Amino acid sequence: MFIDVHCHLDKLIEEFPLEKALKNAKDNNVNMIVVNGTDHEQNIKVLELAKNHKEIKPALGVYPLDALNLSDKEIDEEIEFIEKNKKIIAGIGEVGLDLKEPELLKTLDKQKNNLTKFVNLAIKLNKPIIIHSRKAELQTIELLEQLNVKKVIMHCFSGKMSLVDRIVKNGWSLSIPANVHYSQQFQDVVKRVPLSNLLCETDTPYLHPLKEWPNEPANVIYSYKKIAEIKNKSLKEIEKQIEDNFNKLFEQ
Ligand SMILES: [Zn+2]
Repeated sequence: MFIDVHCHLDKLIEEFPLEKALKNAKDNNVNMIVVNGTDHEQNIKVLELAKNHKEIKPALGVYPLDALNLSDKEIDEEIEFIEKNKKIIAGIGEVGLDLKEPELLKTLDKQKNNLTKFVNLAIKLNKPIIIHSRKAELQTIELLEQLNVKKVIMHCFSGKMSLVDRIVKNGWSLSIPANVHYSQQFQDVVKRVPLSNLLCETDTPYLHPLKEWPNEPANVIYSYKKIAEIKNKSLKEIEKQIEDNFNKLFEQ
């Protein structure tokens, strides 16, 4: 079984029939799809999708830039909403820090406050947390270390190799997007990281491995193939190892 540990199907359905994406996934043996919410409305959609499709596992969260539009009270309400669904959800995500533009630096304290709340929730529920860290890689790692969280998946991690080493040392996982097919950055990450710390993702509808639009979970196979090639293992071996990694992290 192949596993897509991070995607946004709720966004996909606006432009690409969901049933087609799920059929393509099934035909390619992609039988576990962790769909990530990014705000309250999307979190509700993710729960609905999971209710109707057994291969879909919900992760709920608020994307760091969306979280900036919420008051502290609204964040707390969303945390409560997520906690109420603790029996259904597989993990917390997508959450994190984002400094893609310099002016976001002035929001860093608020972003850290928000992320801290989600991390504490993940620890309390003993669920893995799926982390976005665009242009804020060091700040994100430092905060996660301070909070002493263990079940961490760094999604699409694009920081320096010294930080990749630090993630591994912390025992966290990195999920490798399907665009590793052409991305030297992610190929270097795969070379650097032990197989036991790797997972695979598509970030559907983004990051299509052939630079098309939209991406879909079936394409997670591109991540598996590139990892097999770089690690000089069979696709079967990689499939088994990633499934073991996933089970270890997500089992309750
Ligand atoms: Zn994402």
